[in-house]
Amino acid sequence: MTTVLLITLGGTISSSADSGTPGVIPRSGAEELAAQLVPWLPDVRVVPRELRLLPSPSLTFADLFALLHEIDTARDVDGVVVSQGTDTLEETAFLLDVLGAGARRPVVVTGAMRDQDTPGADGAANLIAAVKVASSPVASGVLAVFADSVFAGRTVRKHSAVHADAFTASPWGALGMVREGSVHLPLSAAGGPTLPVPALADPPAVALISTGVDDDLRLLPGLAALGYSGAVLEGMGGGHVATTAIDAVSRCTLPIVLCSRAGAGPTLRHTYGYPGGEIDLLGRGLIWGGHLTGVKARLLLVLCLMQGWSGDELRQRFEQVAGA
Ligand code: ASP
Repeated sequence: MTTVLLITLGGTISSSADSGTPGVIPRSGAEELAAQLVPWLPDVRVVPRELRLLPSPSLTFADLFALLHEIDTARDVDGVVVSQGTDTLEETAFLLDVLGAGARRPVVVTGAMRDQDTPGADGAANLIAAVKVASSPVASGVLAVFADSVFAGRTVRKHSAVHADAFTASPWGALGMVREGSVHLPLSAAGGPTLPVPALADPPAVALISTGVDDDLRLLPGLAALGYSGAVLEGMGGGHVATTAIDAVSRCTLPIVLCSRAGAGPTLRHTYGYPGGEIDLLGRGLIWGGHLTGVKARLLLVLCLMQGWSGDELRQRFEQVAGA
């Protein structure tokens, strides 16, 4: 018999209608979710732990660090499943992975796209698959399981706001699948460089800004006065801005990470030489966003700033993780 700790945070997987509010809201805690699993997992003891009951856009860094603490201090469990809202599932998975939460046992993040009142609700199926992966001897590291696909925590991302198979790891792909109740993982989550867990401190504010045609990015230089400590800029294509934005980018005194708004594929480094191209912007001191989407780069920049890194050290440490 294996033991899996099920930590619940809320989200659609916990949601159903409440007569007092419009729409659905998170209402079912860990005990109720775990109870659904019993008939399907006779060989696994699932230990429920309700940490939060929130829609995932309301989760904070403090919640995520509390989650990390729960995982790190769990005793006598073979694996951990985290269930939460899908809106920020990729952020949880990335943060746990970068902070090494899967070093001792597999940690699997999952959720649902259809709430408990919707026909074809996918919560139970995703949870069952996630527990199977978390208790599997072939699983390791931080993973995400959704619609029977297994993804690396570092690369998973939500690519649909509505579909039941809302997750992808494009351009890398999935690591494996759960098929007919058994786990198939031909690829392993090798992870990548990790960061030390930051000492608890208020996380610095990092802005995430996307840009488009004819945008002069005039808001950038004002970010420092608003109390931001850094920014992530999602450039067009390989990481490009309009010529008219170069002045604002140069006047911004904060560390800026350059990503691509395309969603899949790295920020370029050595291809385009025109003003506002990635060579120009990186030459002006922007930090290379590597393979990270803007959402993940924002998390990584927060974690790096929490270490107290700045200047060349910040660039070097950030790029080492982002480019791996
Ligand atoms: N739409 C979300 C979900 O799938 C809601 C949330 O992220 O909490 O769970």
